[in-house]
Amino acid sequence: MSDNESQTSNFIRDIVIADREAGKHDGRVQTRFPPEPNGYLHIGHSKSICLNFGLAREFGGKCNLRFDDTNPEKEETEYVESIKADVHWLGFHWARECYASDYFQQLYDWAEKLIGEGKAYVCDLNAEQTREYRGTLTEPGKPSPFRERSVDENLDLFRRMRAGEFEDGARTLRAKIDMASPNLNLRDPVLYRIKRAHHHRTGDEWPIYPSYDYTHGQSDSLEKVTHSVCTLEFETHRPLYEWFIQALEIFPSHQYEFARLNLTYTVMSKRKLLQLVKEGKVSGWDDPRMPTISGARRRGVPPLAFRRFCEIIGVTKFNSLTDIALLEHTMRDVLNSRTPRRMAVLNPLKVTLTNYPEGKVEMVEAINNPEDESAGSRKIPFGRTLYIDHDDFLEEAPKKFFRLKAGGEVRLRNSYVIKCEEVVKDESGAPIELKCTVDFKTLGANPEGRKVKGVIHWVSAAHAVKAEVRLYDRLFTVERPDADKERDFLEFLNPDSLQVIEAMVEPELAIDAAQTLEKIKAGAKLPLRDEQSPDEGPMRPYYASDLRVQFERVGYFCLDADSTAQKLVFNRTVALKDSWAKQK
Ligand code: ATP
Ligand code: MG
Repeated sequence: MSDNESQTSNFIRDIVIADREAGKHDGRVQTRFPPEPNGYLHIGHSKSICLNFGLAREFGGKCNLRFDDTNPEKEETEYVESIKADVHWLGFHWARECYASDYFQQLYDWAEKLIGEGKAYVCDLNAEQTREYRGTLTEPGKPSPFRERSVDENLDLFRRMRAGEFEDGARTLRAKIDMASPNLNLRDPVLYRIKRAHHHRTGDEWPIYPSYDYTHGQSDSLEKVTHSVCTLEFETHRPLYEWFIQALEIFPSHQYEFARLNLTYTVMSKRKLLQLVKEGKVSGWDDPRMPTISGARRRGVPPLAFRRFCEIIGVTKFNSLTDIALLEHTMRDVLNSRTPRRMAVLNPLKVTLTNYPEGKVEMVEAINNPEDESAGSRKIPFGRTLYIDHDDFLEEAPKKFFRLKAGGEVRLRNSYVIKCEEVVKDESGAPIELKCTVDFKTLGANPEGRKVKGVIHWVSAAHAVKAEVRLYDRLFTVERPDADKERDFLEFLNPDSLQVIEAMVEPELAIDAAQTLEKIKAGAKLPLRDEQSPDEGPMRPYYASDLRVQFERVGYFCLDADSTAQKLVFNRTVALKDSWAKQK
């Protein structure tokens, strides 16, 4: 099955198709994904990744991974590594791994060329003055008093900036364009600033750093990028992008802008995500509640769900807010046919089967996945003492409660029909044990002369394995936590976004987990995509969360990286049903 089966609106794809038909760039498609390594990737980035890599894949082109590393103070190698892991995990591999910093010398040479042609000058205004001179949307800017410096003086000053002769911020190199342009980006934008900062790749080699605008388009051009896609806020930068390409007479890359992804109940700026991490509101960048790719991976979201989701939301030019329920729906959809069923009791209530022989153990057969015959079946131990979920018992229940009630009958999944004969309670009157009887004629057969509607899950007390289960909920309580500029988004943190409980799970899960932990220890790898596509080439490491299961009647879960052979930890990826839809 292909990710592209349901093509929704994607105007950039339409442009690529038209360009290829017109023979532009000989039909070649070269894209790039250009993260700044100043944080971990979030779900919004996956839209850009799926778009850039998806276009290259669909049209037999190439996509580079390019680190836009021109802000040394905020950038780190840790972020570079996490970004690479995340892109791989999403199922994509890049043609080339590039760094804007690899182009520093070329960018510098081009700056000298611009100076030589009178198209750039060294300016001594400080940051505040530069802003003042720039004017506003309604007022034109004023030319800098340094605008008319001679080529020789500019060249000399620029070389001395490069040589480290001046203080940080003392001078800038600016393009000489148009101080009266209605587009503020064209009012002599800064190309270089002086900054003595240690760079994670070039070390202390450069005391000057190029600006985003001066770097981005030229990097595209150097990589012969045919379709440079970015988010809408760069639309007004496009004339500048084109100005550099024309002034330098270099490969004509073209920029296209699309609407960024915004999700309800989520913040998606790296600055805010960094704040959540730094202030300990979450356990780290990969906290399963984080909207980061690493958080989603740890939470058990299958990469295919992201690719599907990005396919469904499409690519448009209109900013909008996407309901996170759509992502959750996509997750369930992908997980349903791909995860084995297991039984786990999150809130155990003891059941004693009074007519079942003491010490007897039967192995009952259970289908692994009704949606996938090839998943086969397993044998589960059944005995005199079981656990069922507290929520599946009500002493006095309404008619439609198709679970267990006092005096009532229910079927245990894959096993017998039982009847509740007696409820044992603690001092407060809460049930602590149910004494039930088994109808021995109901294993794989309907009970005689009556209908039993409910089916509940269970585990054998003697064989159950204890496991820590982490139940996640939305990190924020409101749809748009950062919409109100007057209020701190942290005010809307959901205090109940994590609940840790001890559950009883069927023994098969301990076997599943042991195998997974063994694979990780042995350094096992998986093909990049989670579909059968053997020609995809590269592999990615095995993660604990690659063990995904459905806890029957409860939700989808995965093994957490905190698990050991002695202690199993499971994360809830998503519940079987959307509990929020009802609340609205
Ligand atoms: P943030 O604002 O979260 O810090 P950014 O835009 O600064 O994000 P970059 O590392 O510069 O992050 O982004 C790399 C690429 O991903 C860019 O092309 C950017 O436009 C794109 N991107 C970032 N956020 C989103 C989003 N929410 N939806 C779609 N694309 C995005
Ligand atoms: Mg950015």
